[in-house]
Amino acid sequence: MTDAILYETPRPAIVRIVLNRPESRNAQDTALLYELNAAFDRAARDDAVKVIVLAANGPHFSSGHDLREGGSIAAQMAPFDVVGTWCGFGCAGAEGRMAREKEIYLGLSERWRNIPKPTIAEVQGKCIAGGLMLAWPCDLIVASDDAAFCDNTVGMGVGGVEYFHHPWEVGARKAKELLFTADWLSADEAKALGMVNHVAPRAELSAFTMALAERIALKPMFALKMAKEAVNAAEDAQGRLSAMNQAFALHQLAHSHNMQVHGVPVDPSGLQVRAKG
Ligand code: ZN
Repeated sequence: MTDAILYETPRPAIVRIVLNRPESRNAQDTALLYELNAAFDRAARDDAVKVIVLAANGPHFSSGHDLREGGSIAAQMAPFDVVGTWCGFGCAGAEGRMAREKEIYLGLSERWRNIPKPTIAEVQGKCIAGGLMLAWPCDLIVASDDAAFCDNTVGMGVGGVEYFHHPWEVGARKAKELLFTADWLSADEAKALGMVNHVAPRAELSAFTMALAERIALKPMFALKMAKEAVNAAEDAQGRLSAMNQAFALHQLAHSHNMQVHGVPVDPSGLQVRAKG
């Protein structure tokens, strides 16, 4: 592992995994995502660990996918051992792109969502597009009062990030508005919508999150695990995974469309984040 991900053990039974690419606003390249996955696996498999906090160094939680990552899909994937069962990373056209995104975006985020231990995202500053796919899989989200969330992918010619959890996070009507406009969702508004559990002053964010993790870690592990499974099952019984899989297929269609029309997988006119306010 490099130092793109830090694995900290600040308290007994609590692991704090930290995104550590502040110079790039914690943009996610393939290496960072696999290092993050390895850290989650390590915490999940350590029976002494009861609660996992996902935090980020620097002014912003995450600016999303690192769009500067070059090379072919096969070259991007070659250094890493895939953790899903999909294949075809060296295939041409939509087949290779779908394989990569199914593995490292939809696949990893869903994998983290299903870790049988409580997870808490500690979010400060901006959390944009792919950044949502790190925060949303966590069970709880604590945001600083200056945190803001945004999915700006519609402007890039796709209908939302690969881990399409928007309706489950903020409700259908608000999900549509956020996708249509790419407006920022403030921490307070996210809390009002149920997407964020708590809002804390920026200077107190880490302490607040750790105190919450400590309270949860006092509970019996098996009961925590069963509580999480039960709530996740309730979401899945509502068709969550089927809807996400359809959204992912539409996302791949959009990439293919953009390749045919623009010669690149996203509409070039929408690559710049539209800062608001
Ligand atoms: Zn994509």
